[in-house]
Amino acid sequence: MTKKNLFGLTLTELEKELAPLPKFRAKQIAAQIYKHGVKNFNDMNELPKTLRAEFSSRYEIKIADVLKRLDSGDGLTKKFLLGLSDGAAVEIVLMKHDYGNSVCISSQVGCQMGCKFCASTLKGLERNLTAAEMLGEIFFAEEFLRGESQKLDSVVIMGTGEPLMNYDELIKMLRLLHEDYCLGMSYRKITISTCGVVPAIKKLRDEKIPVTLSVSLHAPDDNLRSALMPVNSAFNLKSLLAAGDDYAQSTGRRVTYEYILLGGVNDTEEHARRLAKILSGQLANVNLIPFNPVVERNFSPPTKAAVKKFFHFLNTHGIGATIRKEMGADVNAACGQLRARS
Ligand code: SF4
Repeated sequence: MTKKNLFGLTLTELEKELAPLPKFRAKQIAAQIYKHGVKNFNDMNELPKTLRAEFSSRYEIKIADVLKRLDSGDGLTKKFLLGLSDGAAVEIVLMKHDYGNSVCISSQVGCQMGCKFCASTLKGLERNLTAAEMLGEIFFAEEFLRGESQKLDSVVIMGTGEPLMNYDELIKMLRLLHEDYCLGMSYRKITISTCGVVPAIKKLRDEKIPVTLSVSLHAPDDNLRSALMPVNSAFNLKSLLAAGDDYAQSTGRRVTYEYILLGGVNDTEEHARRLAKILSGQLANVNLIPFNPVVERNFSPPTKAAVKKFFHFLNTHGIGATIRKEMGADVNAACGQLRARS
């Protein structure tokens, strides 16, 4: 008999699953799973022996198996390929920053968005991840860090997949992650990255969950952006920037615009000038990401001088910009590369 996995169920779902047992049993199980990381019902001492035996025969508590692990030379970045129950695999990246530990998780197996510089989309979309699978990625990171006497401080949903194309499961996972009986993570510690699915950004604004929104921009005009990111043909820059501004005004959360600098493609001073112009007056900042070479994609990294010039231009023209610290280039930290090669 296939055992039902209880990991990823909300308290209400657990109560329903365990009925007619009294509701406090669901609370006990939730605490054991989410607060104490217990995977074996026989270790749940507060349950009567008969119940432990019954649960062991009907249920399991399973997160994911590690298929592969890569550590960067400086020890600050760790990349894991996790195997899911149906044989699919997803990547997570654990990063140790000065300001704490963060994990970057995937939201889909593969991706249909077709961004030209990205390895994750090469084989298209295989399937959406469930809320339980996304939560499992986070718990894997949390348990790994606990084993090193550290804790997880923030979550970034910026790995393989477009999270807003897996909207319902994403929201379910975020609400569960925020619950006190789960990790109790503040929404402010969570960043969702989108390539620009405008209707879903508007929907997210109305959820009243003040997560940080990060928008992959990568070009300062429609022609170039459509050439790099097919999503721009459906939702152009004007509508995207309006949705971003609206999100920032409604939530009071500054939007981060990600801009991958591709050598000779979008990294000139003229591009910086146009970028500063379209972002002028927005509650926003720009995160510049020097392109991390992807063997499967035909782009080059920008020169150091071009990055410096671009950065300087934005900061002296009223746009707060940062340059993403290059982490884990030796473990292929760009999304999708580990999975694409496995
Ligand atoms: S960059 Fe993100 S949205 Fe674009 S193809 Fe890659 S995973 Fe999908």
